[in-house]
Amino acid sequence: MLRLTNNLTRQKEEFQPLEPGKVKMYVCGPTVYGLLHIGNGRTFMFWDVARRYLEHRGYEVMYVQNFTDIDDKIINRAAEEGISAADVAEKYTLAYFEDMDGLGLRRATHYPRATDHVEHMVAHIQGLVDKGLAYPVDGDVYYRVARFEGYGKLSGRKTEDNEAGARVDVDKRKEDASDFALWKAAKPGEPAWESPWGKGRPGWHIECSAMVRDLMGDTIDIHAGGVDLKFPHHENEIAQSEGLTEQPFVRFWMHTAFLNFELVKMSKSVGNIKTVRDMLQAFGAQALRIFFLQTHYSQELTFSEEAIKAAEAGWLKLRKTLARIEQGPEALGTGDDEVRALQAGLVEAFNTAMDDDFNTPAAIAQFFETGDALRRLRAKGASAVLVADVVARMRELADVVGLDLSAPDVADVELGDELTTGLLDTLVSIRAEAKATKNWALADKVRNDLKALGVQLVDQKDGSTSWEIIPRVLA
Ligand code: AMP
Ligand code: ZN
Repeated sequence: MLRLTNNLTRQKEEFQPLEPGKVKMYVCGPTVYGLLHIGNGRTFMFWDVARRYLEHRGYEVMYVQNFTDIDDKIINRAAEEGISAADVAEKYTLAYFEDMDGLGLRRATHYPRATDHVEHMVAHIQGLVDKGLAYPVDGDVYYRVARFEGYGKLSGRKTEDNEAGARVDVDKRKEDASDFALWKAAKPGEPAWESPWGKGRPGWHIECSAMVRDLMGDTIDIHAGGVDLKFPHHENEIAQSEGLTEQPFVRFWMHTAFLNFELVKMSKSVGNIKTVRDMLQAFGAQALRIFFLQTHYSQELTFSEEAIKAAEAGWLKLRKTLARIEQGPEALGTGDDEVRALQAGLVEAFNTAMDDDFNTPAAIAQFFETGDALRRLRAKGASAVLVADVVARMRELADVVGLDLSAPDVADVELGDELTTGLLDTLVSIRAEAKATKNWALADKVRNDLKALGVQLVDQKDGSTSWEIIPRVLA
């Protein structure tokens, strides 16, 4: 039974979609005005994993992620780069797909762009005006927060200044400080659309309400994003959607915690970002994935190069162990019953972990524990064929969360194992001494024994000897 933390009720609840077998999930997408940082990457990667797991559980998932392609930040960027706002949005939408592909995320089923849905936003706003939930002033339209009884139910907050303390910049034309813009009158030179209130453009919050309604209907199962979106963005979405439809908008509200850098949230405005593309270059997608998934999505995580490398090294070690024990000489079969028991419990253990609020760290811990148990059983004499079956199943399950448990290629092994390198170098120098003292028998023994282990010695013209691993060991 899948149980998820619902931030609306602040409880872990059993998850059942509204329509049996089908999950409607919406994740607020990026504002496309710059390259993504790996804080964004953490959030999008996690929802990709959640979606994969829901599919593994047999659900058909409608996964919608929007692009905010009209916004002040995009307009400012356009001025900086000397290109149009539409070109800025196009450029960074493409960059987004490149980065997400690089991270190995599966594509969402729908990618609505705000600018393709302005008519739905205008209609939504008109509906709110008609119900007295919104009011136009000088070509802007504001939401009348005081009229929506449930305002604050998600975040426990009603106004922007609850945390900051002081009120900043209250627009005198608003009836109340917490009223927020649904429509903004056009400023000269800015992209604008026709509306009953004159030319203008939609506010950020209305985008999601209108696009969800158009593509997915009045009520969806899961709505997610990073925790910074809870207030005001998601609170405002609830007011806009439920205010209009009088139906529950979202059944499960879920939020990923921040990726921090040196104790503060990684963000463009702080200026402490590491871009997804730089990090892909530096560490690779699998290293980032194992690093992210070893912390629960609801816990903050601190970026650290050492931690990423350590996570990757641990995973590589597991891959090596599995590759080693699934092959090699057949054994007597001692311990086979225990291997069978592991096999039988594997899927259930993985599902139990993931069913508990997508507990990826627990799921990953299972892989390490099973790998350890298999290694011990194999040393005791368990059959290689049986062990290989369990390993194959583990690989399938790892793939559910996008992790690669396959046998590492030789390059990884060479890089990853300093001890092996050191021992081989020592043997090469022993052989050199043997040759120097004309002990040909010992020199040949070193060469032949290493060859039997899959290591080829290559004598160089300058008299030195190098070694290479014959790529059959783990290939
Ligand atoms: P933005 O383009 O800033 O709206 O961010 C896109 C998504 O990334 C949103 O769901 C944000 O909540 C999320 N996000 C932004 N910064 C971080 C961070 N440092 N850690 C985790 N998620 C983040
Ligand atoms: Zn949104």
